[in-house]
Amino acid sequence: MFKTHDKGGKGVPDIATILRGTFVCHCVRNTLRAKDESHAGFLMARFFLLPTWRRLGWAEWDSAVPYNWETPWFYKEVEKFIKEHGPAASAPTQWTPKIVQRQIRARDVSEPIGALPSATADHVWRNVASKCLTNQHKDIAWMAIQGGLPVRAFMHARGLNRYKSCPRGCTADETTYHLFWECAYAQDLLKALITELVAWIPTTCITADSVMYGLFPGSHALGDLQGCWRLLCCFKDVLLFSRNRLVVGKKETSTLDCRKMIHSLLHDYAALDGSDDDSDDET
Ligand SMILES: [Zn+2]
Repeated sequence: MFKTHDKGGKGVPDIATILRGTFVCHCVRNTLRAKDESHAGFLMARFFLLPTWRRLGWAEWDSAVPYNWETPWFYKEVEKFIKEHGPAASAPTQWTPKIVQRQIRARDVSEPIGALPSATADHVWRNVASKCLTNQHKDIAWMAIQGGLPVRAFMHARGLNRYKSCPRGCTADETTYHLFWECAYAQDLLKALITELVAWIPTTCITADSVMYGLFPGSHALGDLQGCWRLLCCFKDVLLFSRNRLVVGKKETSTLDCRKMIHSLLHDYAALDGSDDDSDDET
């Protein structure tokens, strides 16, 4: 129906599936659970759907009732949807929009991430949807993994940019991985943030994977992991901002200024935490 945040989705409803499911439930209710069998809607739907219900074992064959083997396309969708999303053996009473949507949502699987095992991908999506992040940082982390950030390699592949090399003068293509890890500018900024990083975890834990996917529980406390993940998300946010400032506004941003911006974002997080504590006290 829609992928939840902890499964790598954005919680956006899949309107086409919802409408198709509602139509099938309406057909089932109209023909198999109808109380009044004399109205025109019931007779027409049964005329076209009787062969389908018979194949599914949901209706008795009744030769005295007229039926049609040449089902119109929109009634063919009913059988297709039932085969796709529902077990044929489930009773017609189970076909209500609420139950069908719940069953489809329960079968949702996490979005795969490259060659990562599914359990690791689950943890990464939980990191991305962490409550300790602001919505903007969740979006940047999500787009960095899904490859949706408008960096030069992404734009060039879609014919939207003439160049695909890094705007900071590197010979490599500007991919998300390059922007957030490989680029000398990103490495310089990470070095400038050493003091802040070691306050949470040892620098040996800071790798390309931890910048892109977040940190994994090990011997570190949960608070330390969250604090470091916040810092890395601020790092990505500021890198993206300075990159856009360079490409669009032709203005350089020094590493020192980037560090100050990261401090400012962390200060906002501290203020948010304070306001959360206040609201908890009031409740
Ligand atoms: Zn570069």
